[in-house]
Amino acid sequence: MKAIRVDQFGGPEVMRLTEMPIPQPGVGQVLIRLMAAGVNPVETYMRSGTYPQKPQLPYTPGYDGAGIVEIVGDQVTSCKPGDRVYTAGTISGSYAEYTLCNEIQIHPLPAKVSFAQGAAIGVPYATAFRALMQRARATPGEIVLIHGASGGVGTAAVQLALSYGLQVWGTAGTDRGQSLVMELGAHRVFDHGASDYADLIMQATKGHGINVILEMLANKNLAKDLTLLAPFGRVVVIGSRGPVEIDAREIMSRDADVRGMVLFNTSPTEMSRIHAALNLGLENGSLRPVISREIPLADAVKSHQVIMQPGASGKIVLIP
Ligand code: NAP
Repeated sequence: MKAIRVDQFGGPEVMRLTEMPIPQPGVGQVLIRLMAAGVNPVETYMRSGTYPQKPQLPYTPGYDGAGIVEIVGDQVTSCKPGDRVYTAGTISGSYAEYTLCNEIQIHPLPAKVSFAQGAAIGVPYATAFRALMQRARATPGEIVLIHGASGGVGTAAVQLALSYGLQVWGTAGTDRGQSLVMELGAHRVFDHGASDYADLIMQATKGHGINVILEMLANKNLAKDLTLLAPFGRVVVIGSRGPVEIDAREIMSRDADVRGMVLFNTSPTEMSRIHAALNLGLENGSLRPVISREIPLADAVKSHQVIMQPGASGKIVLIP
């Protein structure tokens, strides 16, 4: 099979398309023929060798994918060859024509959801769900500001928050991104590149503030986020690419919370609840992953360059 291999940490160009043997499933494992693989920012951090968790070299990147079950190992009971599935984690990496998974890492893909959309579920939707429901503990009627609503996690969070009865406000850095956020049904959208965006948001709350902020770039926004919070408000730090200086008094004066999250810390029980909920949303159509770009697997290098550029409008996927 064709697969991307990383032999050394470095820039996007360290990813090479190579020929590899097709892995064979052991007990409790499933082999999937992939139709699409999701590209997430974390895979760029890991490839560069700067992420705290370093994969053992050489490796094939990728957690998310969607395709058809090819072979099931002994004791696998939840799927059979021919089933449409998406992955949330893999054993052998998803930037490939086939991927090997533990049974617990695969989930049914409803017929109405395309393979490209299926590859956009694992990390982005589970992250958005965990941030909103399990970390922020948002309640219907609250205002949630999704700071970075145009990307993979942000578009997922907009859909989840709307389906849960929240008032959804989002930010994006381009006209295209802002249009997408409104098309998804958000109530308000703001430009996080504008120097006065925080004033505009505060004015729009009529001084009450925001109940929940899902933050994709805390190193840029956390200090301002704290000033936007309503009493008892919560910021969930999903993404951060450097240090930030804050005024802790802004937290103190509101009885506010700043809560971090990394998807890897989610327990198996919490994860199975997340995917059960996602499955219902995918089935009833409230969750509809947005694909911005399909890139051939052979051009994986390009996908890592594009995902780090501004101007997100949904999810980038690789097509084997
Ligand atoms: P993505 O698809 O590349 O989207 C990036 C998002 O960040 C876009 O909406 C982008 O908006 C926005 N952004 C850029 N500059 C911003 C700014 N100054 N303020 C607010 N938002 C800004 O990435 P993703 O998959 O959605 O992931 C988003 C972040 O969360 C990344 O840093 C990623 O590493 C992190 N993440 C963390 C976890 C976790 O477990 N903690 C899981 C998944 C992702 P424009 O392009 O419109 O400017």
